[in-house]
Amino acid sequence: MRDSRDTEKKKNADAEDPELHPAPIEFPLEWDTPMYRLAVDQLDQTAEQMNLDPNIWERLRAPQRAHVVSFPFRRDDYHTVETVYAYRVQHMLTMGPTKGGVRYDEGVNLGEVTALSMWMSWKCAIMNLPFGGAKGGVRINPHTLSSDELQRVTRRYTSEIIEVIGPDRDIPAPDLGTDERVMAWMMDTYSQQVGHAVPGVVTGKPIEIGGSHGRREATGRGVISCVTEACRDRDCSLANSSVVVQGYGAVGATAARLAWTLGAKVIAVSSVTGGTYNPNGLDIDAVDAWLQENDDDLTGFPDGDSVSNQELLELPCDILIPAAIQNQITEENAAALRCKMMVEGANGPTTLEADAILNDRDILVVPDILANAGGVTVSYFEWVQGLQQFFWSEEEVNRKLIDLMQSAYHSVDQLAKEKKVTLRTAALMRGIGRVKEAKHVRGVFP
Ligand code: GLU
Repeated sequence: MRDSRDTEKKKNADAEDPELHPAPIEFPLEWDTPMYRLAVDQLDQTAEQMNLDPNIWERLRAPQRAHVVSFPFRRDDYHTVETVYAYRVQHMLTMGPTKGGVRYDEGVNLGEVTALSMWMSWKCAIMNLPFGGAKGGVRINPHTLSSDELQRVTRRYTSEIIEVIGPDRDIPAPDLGTDERVMAWMMDTYSQQVGHAVPGVVTGKPIEIGGSHGRREATGRGVISCVTEACRDRDCSLANSSVVVQGYGAVGATAARLAWTLGAKVIAVSSVTGGTYNPNGLDIDAVDAWLQENDDDLTGFPDGDSVSNQELLELPCDILIPAAIQNQITEENAAALRCKMMVEGANGPTTLEADAILNDRDILVVPDILANAGGVTVSYFEWVQGLQQFFWSEEEVNRKLIDLMQSAYHSVDQLAKEKKVTLRTAALMRGIGRVKEAKHVRGVFP
């Protein structure tokens, strides 16, 4: 039970009274997992520093809607039918439709999807996009599925969540383990159900059905524009820097290629199975060609030494870009990192404890909710282009993306300097602060 004094205090809450806190969460909640706790701990720490209105603080800890579904999925042999678990969580419906990717991964659970939906809320608010945060997940390993199987899972998942998605309700997009093909199947399934084509129900679609130029590269491009801005601020230059990238999906591969094109020495990259390291710099064309021929496996790549995904994080470099999965930089390895700057392409790669260690060691961390916001920003462009039926050139998309990333970076950086806090805290303050304003003006129903 909540402490009655807290309840009493909350009732008379004056938003600016620094004494007020919501009651601590009574765990376990249905979505209680380590990743959810990380998202809530970040919210709590930031709320404390902002003197956030405790009514809003408490409200933001929980998702507004969380859908858990299970469904049968027929394997290609036509005999085996598996039961699959899946989720769609909408954290906050205050600022417009909700927005966020769908991940296919065998470790997905309700807590992970909830945490990711909270981060989407802050990310959209930092970028001033008219969306709340959402996320979806299907608990399967997509790498073990044939294309037909992937299509069947996608169509059934879409049918199961069809009531809660839509171009003005909740708009899915790609995330870990999903891509343009998956978005095309989701769009088709939704459109079949409602009886007409609805391209705006998803973003990250193929160009042929209303996708945007530049969407596939958008997250990686946004990461690199944060690197460039952070370098500019510190009198260093990307062109003279050594870069390590963990993860070679859409985000990592684009970040590595752009860094390389801009003259940086990309000394190590990795995919799921491990990485390759060459202190003199890798040829990204050669890496791409190798991965294409060798089923995304860098083992045996001739122009580098093989390293594990964990070893790669500890290589000496100027800029480290974790662009794989969550929970990579922890209490265990934070003291061993040898980068000067870390720019988070993945969502949630750093634990709270690791964050404190990196801060003590004066390693600049550009946080996920700012660094990887380029993806959802171009998703927003895609949604707007679709609504207007007026499509932009790749050059225009990239220019608008870079403009928004630069101004978001500088506004967060300025806030960090003003408040003497880390970039992560400043980014959270900006995101949570904008959501708070929207909630205040809308008020409470009924
Ligand atoms: N999945 C991406 C993210 O985590 C993009 C979401 C979107 O485009 O809606 O930011």
